[in-house]
Amino acid sequence: SLQCGIVGLPNVGKSTLFNAISSGKAEAANYPFCTIEPNVGVVTVPDERLEVLTELVKPQKVLPTIIEFVDIAGLVKGASQGAGLGNKFLANIREVDAIVHVIRCFQDENVVHVEGKVDPVFDKEIIDTELQLKDLESVDKKLQRIDKAARVGDAKAKAELEILKQYKAALEAGKSARTVQVSEEDKRAAIGDLQLLTAKPILYVANVDEASMLTGNEYSERLKAAVKDENAEVVVLSASIESQIAEIDDPEEQALFLEEFGLTESGLTRLIKASYSLLDLITYFTAGVKEVRAWTIRRGWKAPQAAGVIHTDFERGFIRAEVIKLPDYQQYRTEAAVKEAGKMSVEGKEYVVKDGDIMHFRFNV
Ligand code: GDP
Repeated sequence: SLQCGIVGLPNVGKSTLFNAISSGKAEAANYPFCTIEPNVGVVTVPDERLEVLTELVKPQKVLPTIIEFVDIAGLVKGASQGAGLGNKFLANIREVDAIVHVIRCFQDENVVHVEGKVDPVFDKEIIDTELQLKDLESVDKKLQRIDKAARVGDAKAKAELEILKQYKAALEAGKSARTVQVSEEDKRAAIGDLQLLTAKPILYVANVDEASMLTGNEYSERLKAAVKDENAEVVVLSASIESQIAEIDDPEEQALFLEEFGLTESGLTRLIKASYSLLDLITYFTAGVKEVRAWTIRRGWKAPQAAGVIHTDFERGFIRAEVIKLPDYQQYRTEAAVKEAGKMSVEGKEYVVKDGDIMHFRFNV
């Protein structure tokens, strides 16, 4: 499944947020493909449509789809030069699909700030710089590697060289690789093999004090202003409140607690939803009496690839997919009735799965 890496300076609230995530507890046994490590938290993705479907099908088991968060602690100033456990942590970031950057937006005399004062924009730049320096290293290495080929007239190497130079210039100017404007094709050719840290999709968490949870504060506003050109979302939450919410097991009690604070959903839920859309993920469903289940895929995937998320055999032996839209299921109530009404479509290998599709795959083993 997809992984988001949580990064940030020490003492900004990463562990507090991560603990809230981890006690959100998806039952690991149901998700055997998940990474089971102490620094990985598995959370289920809240989805109202799954509830609608459950009501209709009344299955024995309901399995929401999941997303994994990895706590990547230990990023400090100088990490790119090996400070702290620098290189190890940077290697961990390389493996995740997206980055969640937690930034301290709360004042607390009792919590030491590593840089001496609360300054979200300054903090963000420290982390950015470390990641950019590491990327600059990767880009320089590749530049050296292809420079010779480009000089003896290899057209492909020449083209890549030009694009790489754009990345180098941006990184040297203190900008992240994701800000470089080149076509998808050029991007793939030039940096597709580099897994640049600052090319990964990112979202920011402004960790604010309890009192600013609904409105944000001066710090979170400054952060928002600083990232407005990055097209990145800023999720405002209070990590300590989130960890209190996560400790409440009973969903009704949890709802009451949220209500008391004037919240309609937890910050964690907003974070999960934001991560989902950051990665351009969509959900399809499978629905049977044994199990109703949500599955995560990327927008644009065709039916066989989507089937492969369930099992590689489904992809390899794919014959066709039967597709029902949720509103039709709601109207006709049963699969048989939907079929009879002619509302179930039969799709082949080229079908692009849509968000919310209810899929039934036919395959050869
Ligand atoms: P990490 O080093 O980034 O993992 O930070 P921690 O989660 O360990 O938090 C560092 C300290 O800040 C701990 O003492 C937390 O209790 C405290 N802390 C975390 N979030 C908040 C918050 O929203 N408000 C306040 N006042 N303290 C917080």
